[in-house]
Amino acid sequence: MTVIVERPSCTGTTTASSASTTSPTPPDRPFLAPLLPVVGQDTHVPLVDGSSRTYANLDYAASAPALTAVAARVTEVLPLYASVHRGAGYLSQVSTALYEASRRTVAAFVGARVDDVAIITRNTTDAVNLLAGCVPKGGRVLVLDVEHHANLLPWVHTGRGAGRSTTILPVEATVALTLAALGRELGRNAYALVTVTGASNVTGEALPLADVVRLAHGAGARVLVDGAQLVPHRGFSLAATGVDYVAFSGHKTYAPFGAGALVGRRDWLDAGTPYLAGGGAVRDVRTDRTLWQPAPARHEAGSPNVIGAIALAEACEVLSGLPAGALDAHEQELRTRLVEGLDALDGVRVVRIWPDSAEPVGVVTFTVAGHDPGLVAAYLSAEHGIGVRDGRFCAHPLLAHLGASTGAVRASVGVGTSSEAVDRLLGALAQYLDGGARADYVVVDGCWAVQDDPRPLLPVHGIDALAATAGAACGPALDD
Ligand code: PMP
Repeated sequence: MTVIVERPSCTGTTTASSASTTSPTPPDRPFLAPLLPVVGQDTHVPLVDGSSRTYANLDYAASAPALTAVAARVTEVLPLYASVHRGAGYLSQVSTALYEASRRTVAAFVGARVDDVAIITRNTTDAVNLLAGCVPKGGRVLVLDVEHHANLLPWVHTGRGAGRSTTILPVEATVALTLAALGRELGRNAYALVTVTGASNVTGEALPLADVVRLAHGAGARVLVDGAQLVPHRGFSLAATGVDYVAFSGHKTYAPFGAGALVGRRDWLDAGTPYLAGGGAVRDVRTDRTLWQPAPARHEAGSPNVIGAIALAEACEVLSGLPAGALDAHEQELRTRLVEGLDALDGVRVVRIWPDSAEPVGVVTFTVAGHDPGLVAAYLSAEHGIGVRDGRFCAHPLLAHLGASTGAVRASVGVGTSSEAVDRLLGALAQYLDGGARADYVVVDGCWAVQDDPRPLLPVHGIDALAATAGAACGPALDD
């Protein structure tokens, strides 16, 4: 393993080190408890000083922990699990019924219209790639330059959309100007599809969907919403917004069991290229021709992820059972507390795409002037038990647009987050800016880590040393 020892500039060599010495958290802010119980809420992690703390998970935008209700549901249905769709046995029929009921629950959760179809995918990336093979031949696609790579690359370079005509429209300085540019482009050229994020995985922001739908439909184009960050945090309805397709991921929706979904208009999905060729997707096969099923079976070849679909459906049920507005209120309060606290720290800059975007979800990305984001993230983990993400968040064009090409730090919240995690982050950053990190840090295969990390491994079967995964987890080749 390559080890490049670097003395990080974390001991006060930058302008940022002259920051405020007081806690950035207003003392009169009341404690905000988690909205829902999630698995692992009380997990302790070791710190470099030999102590331990409950893990402050501020990385929900990457993957959210399972709801305890989801874990209980998985435990409940596992004994009933058997082959689906083609099994004659009793448990096969139970499993098939559970799988198909899950599909209906997932569809209802995103407000599917009666004619819409829900396809169980692996995740959002899978769902977008699937739709890329279903846009009618010759149809042009319009995408903004702020998208996650999952909603950018399938339309341009690789995958089933390869070779299609795609326009990447640069965003403008405000929401109003960006919508105007979108309208102009839709007036200039005919598009089959406009694909937009429902909430940016970098800033939590989005264009107002009602305006995007009005402009796109007015020009004869359909709309896909990348709902990876929207659906778990705000709720979403195809019927209410008029959006044609939505893609989202179970592992960001408190159901980390490998399922996601693409839900939307049936005609393209019935006619499109089958996502995978294989059993279950076909009506009849001869050696000289194949008759394919309509959607959803057309795109679900192979044995489906039954447990993943059931877990996702359970998460959808629990989230839709929350009192109206509770999810938004919880995450908005945490986001406001976080952003106000970060704004109070000298040298810390919260990035935004548009100054006039409304109510971003609980995803906040910031830079610390003069400090490597990877070092800041490693410090937060090793000295405070806080999990954040650093890098370019699979949105390289957006990070360049935001003036953060070398990366940034992202904190994100969800139903299992309490205000303690947010306050701990703010306190830890204030301490870092005042006095620097206590431990020594080195770069191992492009990833910041504690030098001679003394932290013991949690007693978990299957891993021998954290160091063995360090390079793989955050090396440049896997930048997220
Ligand atoms: N879109 C957005 C906005 C995301 O945040 C992510 C995940 N970071 C994706 C798409 C891709 O999701 P997945 O990795 O579950 O396919």
